[in-house]
Amino acid sequence: MARKLKFDILAFLELHGVDYRTSGKNCAKGHCVVSCPMCEAEGDPDPSMHMGIELSSGHWGCWRSSHHRGKKLTSLMTKLTGISFKEAAQLVGDAAESVDKEEFDALAQWLSGIEEQANPAVQSPPKTLPMPSSFRPITDSRFAQPFRRYLEKKRGFRRQDIDKVIKTYDLRYCVQSGSWQQRLILPIYRDNKLGTYTGRSVDPNEQLRYNSLSKDKSVVNIKETIYDYDGLMNTTGRALFVVEGPLDMLKMDFYGRAYDCRTTCLFSKTATPEQIADLYNVHRNFAYVVVLLDAGEAKSASALLDELSLIPNLMSLEIPYEGVDDPADLYPSEIAEICSEI
Ligand SMILES: [Zn+2]
Repeated sequence: MARKLKFDILAFLELHGVDYRTSGKNCAKGHCVVSCPMCEAEGDPDPSMHMGIELSSGHWGCWRSSHHRGKKLTSLMTKLTGISFKEAAQLVGDAAESVDKEEFDALAQWLSGIEEQANPAVQSPPKTLPMPSSFRPITDSRFAQPFRRYLEKKRGFRRQDIDKVIKTYDLRYCVQSGSWQQRLILPIYRDNKLGTYTGRSVDPNEQLRYNSLSKDKSVVNIKETIYDYDGLMNTTGRALFVVEGPLDMLKMDFYGRAYDCRTTCLFSKTATPEQIADLYNVHRNFAYVVVLLDAGEAKSASALLDELSLIPNLMSLEIPYEGVDDPADLYPSEIAEICSEI
């Protein structure tokens, strides 16, 4: 029988500013729900809160993925708030859990290049990743038209820029049935080769907006790199913007380049130690590193700024336009204005 938990989960969530619900969609009786931090970490935002926590036992599970579940509340707590395992274990009052080594107190280690010893039981990732033949270059063909239209009408790229956007980011499309169907594909390169990819659905009825290649199939896990790390290491500029999602990045980066600004993204609201290390490595190439998060995300923005606080030229910026929640929704002229005033 499950041990009864003395720890007050709701008070903990409250204290750390984690949004939760105790009723409504996805929420069973005696549970609370939060946005699944593991979905988020995999680049799949979860605004409708699929992570349920049983208040009496602390057992947790995500409705979307059977991999996102567990009985140890401490590991979920660290993922939700960024506190260490040790702190979480002390709060829950279970000393046995404080020895969990898998987690990431080890930022300092990462930055000095000392990696945790690889666990031999874990299969190593593939060394190369071929571009699937079903990921077609976006040409003028009939099949490619919906994706061109998506970039122009839904994403606000200027028509005359579409070809250059496609070429700059090597954008592809997929119409083959399966999990990549009707997705605009963004390849993610690392060490000058294809590391992984993510696909944004162009179908407004699709629930899963982003689909990313799983960790075990990727040369580099999408949450262990920032976008265009190679390119950012080999360039200099005035500002490097850090945004959440790939589409935010595409728009900000494409229209910011003329102003000596670049943009990268984290593929979710939070930065992993690997991504923090990437940003730390590229920060010297820019006068400023500017966190530009979606409007209404003050909590996650301040958590992210905390995580990135070791970057000396860090600043943050709220979108200065009324009614624009998302960097992807900025007009090219607004991006130009932001970039020229940094
Ligand atoms: Zn999940």
